[in-house]
Amino acid sequence: MTLHEMLVDEIKDLYHAEKQLTKALPKMAKAANHEDLREAFEMHLEETHEQITRLEEVFEALGEKVKAKPCPGMAGILEEGKDTMEEDAEGAVMDAALIAAAQRAEHYEIGAYGTCVEWARLLGLDEVASLLEATLEEEKAADQKLTALAESEINQAAVAEGQSEDEEEVEDTGRGRSSGRATTVRRQSSTTRPRAKAADRRRR
Ligand code: FE
Ligand code: FE
Ligand code: ZN
Repeated sequence: MTLHEMLVDEIKDLYHAEKQLTKALPKMAKAANHEDLREAFEMHLEETHEQITRLEEVFEALGEKVKAKPCPGMAGILEEGKDTMEEDAEGAVMDAALIAAAQRAEHYEIGAYGTCVEWARLLGLDEVASLLEATLEEEKAADQKLTALAESEINQAAVAEGQSEDEEEVEDTGRGRSSGRATTVRRQSSTTRPRAKAADRRRR
């Protein structure tokens, strides 16, 4: 197998990876709580559609038929993302986890496109290289945007949510040696919310 043939294979893999992402990103946008994060997912969905078109132009430039080859790498990353969305987490905690999942997908793409750009250049396929490079830059920008959202606000908000849950005030119900006072208890929210139970059932 030549490097050229290997490149074509990698493009087919990326084509399938991007196709899978167009199905996952709307779900991630829906699961996002912070408006900026939801918008980031929606914007990257639009970019992903353009990236698919760009890959079709790459196939054309290579004189190859447009064809996907199953990409189990992205499938696995998105499977983990699906698990994340089923976790009993809310607000900024869910958003922080969604960013973690999305960045895994972006990093996979950055690795793959980075290699393909370099191979295309080495093989003298300038048009292919520049098409792939345009996408590579979008993937990097998407990744940096997620980092910025996490670091500027969402991670801190997620830390704060944990603190307010730990010290939630509950009414003493009056059983046992009750004094009738409100008490501060440590509460594990994951054992009390219906969503947790649904998720637990799925895991059995
Ligand atoms: Fe992409
Ligand atoms: Fe792959
Ligand atoms: Zn991407």
